[in-house]
Amino acid sequence: MQKILENLNAVHQQITDACEACAPKRDSSSVRLLCVSKTKPIEMIKEAYASGERHFGESYALEAVDKIAALQEQGYRDIVWHFIGPIQSNKTKHIAAHFDIVESVEREKILVRLNEQRPEGMAPLQVMIQVNISHEEQKQGCEIEELPVLLQKASELPNIEVIGLMGVARIDADDEELAASFAMLFKLREQYQSQYPKLTELSMGMTHDLKQAIMQGSTEVRIGSAIFGEREYHKA
Ligand SMILES: *Cc1c(COP(=O)(O)O)cnc(C)c1O
Repeated sequence: MQKILENLNAVHQQITDACEACAPKRDSSSVRLLCVSKTKPIEMIKEAYASGERHFGESYALEAVDKIAALQEQGYRDIVWHFIGPIQSNKTKHIAAHFDIVESVEREKILVRLNEQRPEGMAPLQVMIQVNISHEEQKQGCEIEELPVLLQKASELPNIEVIGLMGVARIDADDEELAASFAMLFKLREQYQSQYPKLTELSMGMTHDLKQAIMQGSTEVRIGSAIFGEREYHKA
């Protein structure tokens, strides 16, 4: 488990280096590290927690709900849970009840369900709209043309607060394509921020493209394998 601490130190160093490489330089506190713990046991989450991490990302609703409940029972109550996986409508109830931030919203039906199912007495669910920036047909995320309608719709829902945009670049994109994809998401946020001032977050960058994302203005990188090691299995 010592390894997780070392890995985290290395990732924070990478974030700092990328911020230094920006012109003008960015402060490393302007980029949040989201530790992506999907498929990993809660012991590993506790290890990252012990070294100061508080933001964790999960992709599979049922697996996540079990882990969140177990950790809450053990007193880990100040973790901020981010949902980052594809959202099936029959899972929105779990997601609305257990997560603080949902980054992977890409259609209106899901927005409406999350709004309805956010339990009474909880703060509005923070949401990012996932935009398809990879030019791949089957990829996750709404199309750029759909974004204004989703933002408008979300602004009418009392239990939803849209805080930013999320994007995943193509896995084998070269540096130039990565920069172009991330720059596009940055530009979209600029474009809609005047109308929606709360649109401040840009969740972009993973283990292999963190640097390019930070150089294009990322405010949150979602890192899994560089912290917790490769994922051995993939649950649907
Ligand atoms: C799994 C996942 C990540 C983390 O990927 P790594 O390459 O392991 O850092 C980030 N974002 C999303 C949407 C993911 O599903």
